[in-house]
Formats: sequence, C-alpha cells, structure tokens
Amino acid sequence: METIKCDVCIVGGGPAGCTTALYTSRSALRTVIVDKNPDIGALAVTGLIANYPGVKGDGSGKELLDMMRGQAEEYGADYVKAQVFMIGVDDDEEDEDGGVPRRMVYTPDAVYSAKSIVLATGAMGRPPGFKGEGEYLGKGVSYCATCDGAFYVGEEVAVVGVGKEAVDEALYLTKFAKTVHWLTQGEGPTDEDAMELKGKENVKHWPKTRLVEVLGDGMEVKGVNVKVFGNDSEQVIDVTGCFIYVAGSKPITDFIQSSKIKLNPDGGVWVDEEMSTTVPGVYAIGDIRNTPFKQVVVAASDGCVAAMAIEKYIKGRKKVRVDWVHE
Ligand SMILES: Cc1cc2nc3c(=O)[nH]c(=O)nc-3n(C[C@H](O)[C@H](O)[C@H](O)COP(=O)(O)OP(=O)(O)OC[C@H]3O[C@@H](n4cnc5c(N)ncnc54)[C@H](O)[C@@H]3O)c2cc1C
Repeated sequence: METIKCDVCIVGGGPAGCTTALYTSRSALRTVIVDKNPDIGALAVTGLIANYPGVKGDGSGKELLDMMRGQAEEYGADYVKAQVFMIGVDDDEEDEDGGVPRRMVYTPDAVYSAKSIVLATGAMGRPPGFKGEGEYLGKGVSYCATCDGAFYVGEEVAVVGVGKEAVDEALYLTKFAKTVHWLTQGEGPTDEDAMELKGKENVKHWPKTRLVEVLGDGMEVKGVNVKVFGNDSEQVIDVTGCFIYVAGSKPITDFIQSSKIKLNPDGGVWVDEEMSTTVPGVYAIGDIRNTPFKQVVVAASDGCVAAMAIEKYIKGRKKVRVDWVHE
C-alpha cells in the first residue's frame, strides 16, 4: 500500500475541510483533502444557499462547495476522492526532520502520513437502525463499497438507499458481485448515474421496497427481509452482503477508533478554542463538533481557526501568525 507524506491531511471535503485547505495551502503546507464523495455532505445536498455572506442567494450548496474546493486546489491543495476508514494517532511515527510526530489516515488505496490531521466529516451519519444492522456490522453489513466490495466477487449483495452515495457505491459493487439488489423506498432516482445503474445486467432494482431486517446465522449475513409496497407479506432475498446508505444527523466519527480523542456526551468531537482535539496535531471542525450552530459560515470559520493553529503547531511557534498587524 502506497504511503503519501504531507503536512496536513484533511478528512472530509465540505466547507470546513475546504476552508482549512485554502489557508494551509496558502501557508505553503502540503495539504491533501481526502473526501468520500463531494455530492453527499450537508452543503452539497443543500438546494439553495441564501445566507452565506458575500455570495448571491440564488445558487445551490453544491455550486458554493465546488467554488470552495476549486479555490483550495488553485492554491495547491490536492483533492482525493476516497473514504477514510481509520486514523492512527496512537503509535506516533517520528518525523525524519525531527519535527512533530506524524499521524496516519487510512483509505482502501493509500495511507497518508501527515504532521497534522483535521477531522471534518460533518454530521450526516446515523447509528445502526434496521433490525440486525448493528449485530452484523462488519460481518456482512457495510457502509463502504470501496473498502469491502472486493470480498463479494460472484456473490449476491443488497444496496439500500436512493442518494448519490448509494448509486455510486452500487455501481462500484457491480464490478464484483454476481447480483446487486438495489432497494429503493420509492421508484428510485432517474438521473444519468441511476439510469446507468438500472441498465447494468447484474443489477436487480427493487422499487418501493423497504428493508425490514438483516438476517444472519449469528456469524455472518445470510439475507435481507424486505417489504414491497402493496404486498402484505415480507420477502427474503438471499444475500451475503448488505450495504446501507441512509443519511442521518449524527456526527460521523466511526473512523476515529482511538479513545485518546475525546467525544462529548452528544457524540460530537471535543475541541479547545484552537479546534484542537485531545491529541496534539489532530483538529476537528464543522458539524462533526455537533454544536447547535450548524451553518456553512461557522464550518468555514472553524476551518480558518484550525488552519492558523496548525501552522503554529507545525512550525513550533509560540503564537498564531497573522497576515496583518492591527496598529
Ligand atoms: C438540508 C440542509 C440544508 C441546510 N441549509 C443550510 C443553509 O441554508 N445555510 C447554512 O449556513 N447551512 C445550512 N445547512 C448546514 C450546513 O450545510 C452545514 O453546517 C455544513 O455543510 C457543515 O460543513 P462540514 O464541512 O462540517 O460538513 P459537510 O458539509 O457535511 O461535509 C462533510 C464531508 O465529509 C465527507 N466524509 C464523510 N465521511 C467521510 C469519510 N469517512 N472519509 C472521507 N470523507 C468523508 C463527506 O463526503 C462530505 O463531503 C444545511 C444542512 C442541510 C442538511
């Protein structure tokens, strides 16, 4: 597996992550944004954004986000589309130039070794909610096709959800699975990607179908119990994998497996006034903090604070360096 060294690795490419990237790349820190999908975060799915200062109120959230990402890239930040499944903050790797210890960010294709990492995955997550989902998580239930898809070569799998994420991940699974059973509560989306998915030979679309329960033998998934709208009885589809993409409103922290990073009782990541978590060099910004102030301008502001604090941390300064001096 390739290891990529950088100064700052940002997990999540929403307004919080893109703002940090803008500032750190302008400070000549080598910055990489690792983002699961630019179309699925809270800003990306916001239809109209009318309260971001300085921007006309007739554009979509996605347009604003594309501008933010583009601006960070113009200043040198690299954008990588990948899902982070784990971070490493426990076993510090010494930096060869004697600086701060390195932190690790793991994706299915590469590991990022960074002097500082930023957690900016937002709050569109949810706890396991379907019957059997929690019990079989990691034993056939997955939220990451790029991480787990290759385990299902020639197998029957189910994909649950109607969003862009569900469609993209189902398309990815068609490369491996014998059949991808795509369950959508309504008729399902009709955009270009969804139509491509529906047209695949190894996809069986189940419209107006609700997942009732993930079934297994105690060890691994053996099927899903579904209810088709209009039918009285439930029906079992034999599958060995069940990929669930249903958005919620819980901070996305499942990839933070270290107890060194303190979470608040509400599930948000605890930070100090510089957006630093309880692990030096690891910052958390935006909706992942789960404050009541979930707004784009606040996420961007968090991103700026973290970037300036990171520059101080990596350079070993006593004070934050400002671009201007107030006389
Ligand atoms: C429907 C809706 C309407 C809203 N309307 C407004 C509004 O009008 N005005 C306003 O100011 N705010 C609004 N908000 C709130 C605003 O969108 C959020 O506060 C803001 O987007 C938070 O930014 P963020 O960067 O923290 O997270 P997000 O925008 O959610 O971005 C998180 C990013 O992290 C990525 N990610 C998630 N998991 C992983 C992983 N494991 N690995 C790598 N990447 C990952 C996602 O793909 C996503 O790109 C709205 C929110 C919603 C849901």
